[in-house]
Amino acid sequence: MAEKFISERNLKFLLYELNDTESLLRYPRYADHSREVFDMILDTAMRMGKDLFKPLFEEMDRKAPEYVKGEVKVHPRVRDIMRQAGEGGWIASTFPYDLGGQQLPFTIGVFLPTAIFGAANYSAAVYHGLTHGAAGLIVSYGSQEMKDTYLPKMIAGEWQGTMALTEPQAGSSLTDLTTTATPTEEGYYKIRGQKLFISAGDHDGADNIIHLALVRIKDAPPGIKGISLFIIPKKRIKEDGSLESNDVNCAGIYHKLGYRGAPITQLAFGENDDCRGWLVGEANKGLAYMFQMMNGARIDVGLAAACISSAAYYASLEYARERPQGRKLTSKDPLSPQVPIIEHADVRRMLLFQKSIVEGSLALLVQCGLYEDLEHVTEGEERENYNLLLELLTPVAKSYPAEMGILSCSQGLQILGGYGFCEEFPLEQLYRDVRIHPIHEGTTGIQGMDLLGRKMMMKKGKAAQLYLAEVRKAIREAQDDMQLKPFADQLQSAVAQLEKVTAHLFGIAAKEGPEMFLADATLYLEFFGIIAIAWQWLRQAVCAGKALQKNPGESDVNFYNGKMVACRYFYGYELPKIEGLAIRLLSGDGLTVTMKNEYFED
Ligand SMILES: Cc1cc2nc3c(=O)[nH]c(=O)nc-3n(C[C@H](O)[C@H](O)[C@H](O)COP(=O)(O)OP(=O)(O)OC[C@H]3O[C@@H](n4cnc5c(N)ncnc54)[C@H](O)[C@@H]3O)c2cc1C
Repeated sequence: MAEKFISERNLKFLLYELNDTESLLRYPRYADHSREVFDMILDTAMRMGKDLFKPLFEEMDRKAPEYVKGEVKVHPRVRDIMRQAGEGGWIASTFPYDLGGQQLPFTIGVFLPTAIFGAANYSAAVYHGLTHGAAGLIVSYGSQEMKDTYLPKMIAGEWQGTMALTEPQAGSSLTDLTTTATPTEEGYYKIRGQKLFISAGDHDGADNIIHLALVRIKDAPPGIKGISLFIIPKKRIKEDGSLESNDVNCAGIYHKLGYRGAPITQLAFGENDDCRGWLVGEANKGLAYMFQMMNGARIDVGLAAACISSAAYYASLEYARERPQGRKLTSKDPLSPQVPIIEHADVRRMLLFQKSIVEGSLALLVQCGLYEDLEHVTEGEERENYNLLLELLTPVAKSYPAEMGILSCSQGLQILGGYGFCEEFPLEQLYRDVRIHPIHEGTTGIQGMDLLGRKMMMKKGKAAQLYLAEVRKAIREAQDDMQLKPFADQLQSAVAQLEKVTAHLFGIAAKEGPEMFLADATLYLEFFGIIAIAWQWLRQAVCAGKALQKNPGESDVNFYNGKMVACRYFYGYELPKIEGLAIRLLSGDGLTVTMKNEYFED
C-alpha cells in the first residue's frame, strides 16, 4: 500500500486556515487546551495510524473474524489496539474530566483520530470508535451507578461498547422493534429477543461487551414512542466485581464483502430466560437518546468513507506517478520513452475527481464537527442554531462521502488498470471496504427522506434558512475576488435552483401527499449534496487564494494551487450535474410511484 493514506497538510489547512478551530479555546470547556495540544494529538494520531493501524490493513482483511463453537475470534492485535486506544485516552477524548475524559473538542478528539485511523485501516478503527459512542450515551443519559459500573472499563479499552438496534424485521424501520424488556422487582428487566448485524457484538479482543440496545418494555405504546434504551452486558457484574454470563449468545457472524476485519454478529438475548438489562434514562425515550449516538455515528460513517477514499486517492496518485504507459498525444516518435500515466489528461481527470471528492467531503465534515463543538459551548438561540445546522447537514455529511466514495475508489482502481483489480494492490480492498457506508447507520434512501421529509421542514424551515445564509456568506466573500467571481455566481444560481426545487417539492407534498413528495428524495439528497460540497470548495478556494497572495514557499504554492484547480474541477465537472437532477426533480410525474410490481416480471 502507498506510504501516504491521508494528508496531514490538508488536515491542518481544514482545521486552522479554512476554519478557526483554535477559537474554541476561548470557551471555558476547552480553556485548558492549546494549539500545541491540538498539534500533539494530530502528530500522535498520525504516528499511530502509520505504526499501529496501517501495518494490519491487509492482514485483518485476509484473516477475517471466525465463529468457533459459539465464540468470535478476531485478529490477535485487536486486544492490543483496544488497550492502546484506552491508554492513549482516545475512547474518552471528549468526555468531561470528572468522568475520566480529556474534555477535548469533537473536532480534535474525534474527527482527527477517526479520520486518520480510518484512512489507515477502517476495520481496526471501529472497535474503540464504537466504544466511544456507546460510552458517550452512558455519559449523557446513564445514572451515576451506570457510570461507575461501566465507564472505567470501557474507557480503558477493556470492554467493548456496541450500538444494538437492528432486528430481522426492523432494519430501516425501527418502529417494528420487538425485543422485549419485562420489569422485575429487583430493578433490572428481563430481556428477550434478537439483534442482527451488530458490529463488534461479540469477540475475544475484549473482556466484556456492553450493548446499548433499543428495546420495547412490555406493554409500551406501539411505534417509536414505545422504544427504550437499555444497557445489556454480555457478562453481568457480580457484587465482588467478577463477571458471570448474562444469557447473551452470539448465534453467528456474517461473511462480508469488505470491512472484513471487524465482525458483525447475530445476537440472541434471553434464550434461557436469564438475560438482564438496565433501563437508561426514562422509559420510552430510547430513540431520542440513541439519536445522539446515531447522529455521531452518521458523521463518523461519512468520515470513514472520505478517509477510505483518501487512502485510495494517495495509492492511485503514487501509482500514476510511477507507471509508464504510452506517450503524449503530441509525441509522434514511437522510440521516445513512455510517459508516466499521470501525464495523460484522462488520468488527471480521474485524480482530480478523487481529490475533489475527498477534500470536499472532509471540509464538510470538519464544518459539521465545528457546529457540534459550538453547540456544546454556546447557549440559547446560538446553541439552537448550531444544532439545527448540524441536524440539517448530518444526512448530507453521511451520504455524499459514502455514495461518492464508492465512485471515487472505483476511479482510483481504474487508474491502476488491471492491477487495480488484483489483490496485490490495495485498491480492490479499499473499493470493497468503502461499499458498506451507504448501507449502515441508515441507508442513503432513509437519509434522503430524513433530509427532505424532516430536516428541511424542521422548525418551519429555520434550519434550511440558516444553512442558506452560510452558503450566501461564502458567495459574498468569493464575489470580491475577480478570479473566483464566476464560481460565486455559479453557486448563487445553484442556490436559486435549490430553492426552486424545494418549493416545488413542498407544493407536491401539500397537493399530492407524502408518497409523491418523497419518491425522489434520494435524488434530492444527491442534488443538495453536490451544492453543499460546492459551498465547501468555494470556501477552500477563497482561503487558498488569500494564502497565495502572501507569497508562501514553493510547497505551499503547490498545495494552494492544487486547491484552486480542484475547485475549478468541481465547478466545471461536478456542479453542472445538478441541472439534470433538477429537471427530474421538477418533473414530478410519479413514475416510480405508479410503476406496478408486476411490470418488473418478464
Ligand atoms: C457491516 C454492517 C454493520 C452493521 N452494524 C450495525 C450495528 O452495529 N448496529 C446495528 O444496529 N445495525 C447494524 N447494521 C445494520 C444496518 O444498520 C442495516 O443493515 C441498515 O439499517 C438497513 O437495514 P436492513 O439491512 O434491514 O435493510 P432494509 O431496511 O430491509 O432496506 C433494504 C432496502 O430498502 C430500502 N428501504 C427500506 N425501507 C424503506 C422505506 N420506508 N422507503 C424507501 N426505501 C426503503 C432501503 O433504503 C434499502 O435500500 C450493520 C449492517 C452491516 C451490513
